[in-house]
Parts: sequence; structure tokens; C-alpha cells
Amino acid sequence: DQIQEERLKYLTDEKRIKAVTVLFSDLEGRLHMLDYDKKFLVKSWDNLTFDGSSIRGFTAQRESDLRLGMDWSAFYWAPSDIFGSGKVLVFGEVIDKDGSAYTGDIRGVLKTFSNAQFQKNGYTLNAANEIEGFLFKGADAERSYNETGKFEYVNTGGYYHSLPGDPLRQFIDTSAEVQRAMGFENEKDHPEVAPSQFEINYGYGEVVAAADQIQLYKLICRQVATKMGLTASFLPKPVVGVNGSGMHTNVSISKGGKNIFWDPKGEEKLSKFGWQFIDRILTHGNDICLALNASVNAYRRLDPHFEAPNQIKASAVDRGSMVRIPIGNERSSRVEVRSVGPDANPYLVLYSVFKTGLDGEIAKIKNLRQADRYLPDNIYDALANFTSAEWTSTMLGADVKARYAELKQASADRCPRLLGTFVKPQEVQYHHEVY
Ligand code: GLU
Ligand code: MG
Ligand code: MG
Repeated sequence: DQIQEERLKYLTDEKRIKAVTVLFSDLEGRLHMLDYDKKFLVKSWDNLTFDGSSIRGFTAQRESDLRLGMDWSAFYWAPSDIFGSGKVLVFGEVIDKDGSAYTGDIRGVLKTFSNAQFQKNGYTLNAANEIEGFLFKGADAERSYNETGKFEYVNTGGYYHSLPGDPLRQFIDTSAEVQRAMGFENEKDHPEVAPSQFEINYGYGEVVAAADQIQLYKLICRQVATKMGLTASFLPKPVVGVNGSGMHTNVSISKGGKNIFWDPKGEEKLSKFGWQFIDRILTHGNDICLALNASVNAYRRLDPHFEAPNQIKASAVDRGSMVRIPIGNERSSRVEVRSVGPDANPYLVLYSVFKTGLDGEIAKIKNLRQADRYLPDNIYDALANFTSAEWTSTMLGADVKARYAELKQASADRCPRLLGTFVKPQEVQYHHEVY
């Protein structure tokens, strides 16, 4: 197609580009990158294979070879001071032997779903995530936590607070500069409520591009921090007693250029369609919790004393609710799902939210503004909900559901053993799992 031709021509003509980094994510959302020499890639891009058996959640040993396709529309120039010189980044598509999209590649699942919604209903699915994180001293702070038992802040400031020369400010400025250079539409950035905590917001995009940008955002932050001898951490709750980090997921749907969540006469200026979307999300709030909160640590965050949700309800103001309806206008009217950790697989998060909001069961809840249930406070309960729910089988298919549950069970079970003594996972602050 046209984009593909254009990009290939650009690669060939642009002498400064030497290599192409192809990115894809495993079932848990870890980003994988393969660097190809440009000349090789231009010749061989439609015939790339890789060993899927070494990627978590992908194929079993006996059927290890998978093909790697290129999504030429997801093409980013990589600023050389951060990524090394002469590179572009392109998102890949994992393809099964028979040529169909590989089901373990949730990016592909999301893309198929999004395209089908457009074809069937004329819907464009839009998303913007607010990703919070911490900046800690030391380039290896997450890995060395197991020895040191603590994280060290780089500053003591709080919300919107910065002083000249503040490393957190420098980090935010550089990360935002890199994002802009890569084509993100930045909106605002600021130190967040906890000491040494940050948030950088950018505009909404079509759902697959939005998920790609989450992966790039975390990559950029980690690269920038490492260059400063620091660590950007996306653990949901790295420090007890202060706010954790969320990845609030703002979603809306447009049709023919019109935001169909917006209705100036609706409750909270949200359309009936928007309220039904919320209804389905709340109905399945417990079923999909494991997809949105994917680590042992994520359940430490779900505490309303720290502006994080634990109540399965919707509200315009209460930050302890799973779903919030921020004040909006025709352009920005949206639904904010707050019960999401920044270490979850962004493709799985966005797929779960849209699939549930559009196709889930409805009208099971009497009053959407009143909590009739709470989110689980530990990963084992979340696992039990996820596994027993019929909805998660419909959503993911039995095979992917089982593989995801198996990975999460393993991560929960690994936790006490890593620490040497038996402690319930919900009592463990952090263990060595980096997404
Ligand atoms: N850090 C809070 C959380 O864990 C959110 C604060 C905010 O509302 O921006 O979700
Ligand atoms: Mg925030
Ligand atoms: Mg928010």
C-alpha cells in the first residue's frame, strides 16, 4: 500500500538512517526490540522470522518459529542522543505460520478489533493514558531493591513543585523534548503528588497508536533516566505511605468526526451510549481487574487514601472510584478508567476496556454511582476472578486467557520465594519484576 511504499522509499533515500528497530510486546507487555541493518531490512522486510519460544506467553518450543510483519504506519524517528544515531523505530506484527495474526500478540488483537469496529459501526476508538512514574537514584534501582530494600528519591518536592537544577525537572524536560521530536502531541507535564514522582500528558490518539505511545513513553523515560544515572520506575506502588503511580486510561469513541460520548443534556454531560459503556465496564470490573492490574505490586496501589480506586462505581469527583467522568467538552468528553497500573500490558488494557465497554453484559448494576463491590486487594483474588469469569474467555479466547493466568500465577508464586521467607504476596512491597 501507499504508506508502505513511502516509508520504504524514505528508508532507502535517507542516508542518515542506518538501522531499523522493530518493536513488539509479549503477553505481559514487555517490549522487545530487534535491530536490523537498513539495507538488509529494505530487502527482506517481508520475510522476517524469530524464535517465539523465548518470548513469555508466546509459542511452545515445538512450534517456535513465528513471522514478524511490519506495521509501516507505526513509524517513528528515533532521536540520536537517546537511541544512538541513525535509527528509526517501527512496530512489528507477529504472524502465525498460516499467515494469520498471532493470538498472543495483543497489539494485533487490538488492531483487528479496532478495524472491525470501524468497518461495522463507523467507530474510531480513541485513547489517552496519563502515565505516572517515579524517578529514583541509581541507574539500577529496581534490580538493586532486593539488596538495599529501599528506593531513594531524587528530590523532596511535591505536586507542581520544582526548583532550578532539580533532577526531576531536568528529567521531565528532556523526556518531553524527546517525545515532541518523535511526534507526540504533548499537553502538559508536572511533578506529581508524591516526592520524586512525575507525569507527562499527551493528546489522545487512535487506540493502537495510543498503546504504542505508552510503550514508547516508558522506553523514552527509562532511556533518559539511565543517561542521567537514575531509574524511571513504573511500579504501581514503590513506596509505602505516599501516592502510587497509576495509568489512568481515558477513552472515547467518535463517529463521523463526532464524539459520541458527549451529550450536553446527559448526566455529567455524558451520552446514554457513554453511560452504557461505563455500565458494562463496572459489571465486569472484577473479571478484567487482572488485565488492568497485572503485578503483585499493583494491588498495593488500589487504596483510596492515596487517590487510587478500590470501589467499583462511577463518579465525577471521587478519585476512589474505578471510573471517573472528568469535566469535558465536545472534544474532550471521555470516560476515565482509574484502576490501571503503569506496569500492565497497554494493548491488553485498551483491548479489555473497549471490548468490555462495547460488548460486555449490561444493566447488572442498580446504581452506577454507588459501590456494590470492591476491587480485589491482592493478586490471588484477582486471579480467581479472572479465571472463573466467563467474560474473560469470550474476550480473550480460552487459550490466551489460560496462558495469561498461568504467567500471573507464576509471578504471584515467585514473590514469596524470592524473598526467602514465606510472606503473603499482599504483604510484599516489591519484588524483582520489571515491565
Ligand atoms: N497517583 C494516583 C493514582 O495512583 C492518581 C493521582 C491523580 O489523580 O492524578 O492513581
Ligand atoms: Mg496524575
Ligand atoms: Mg487522571
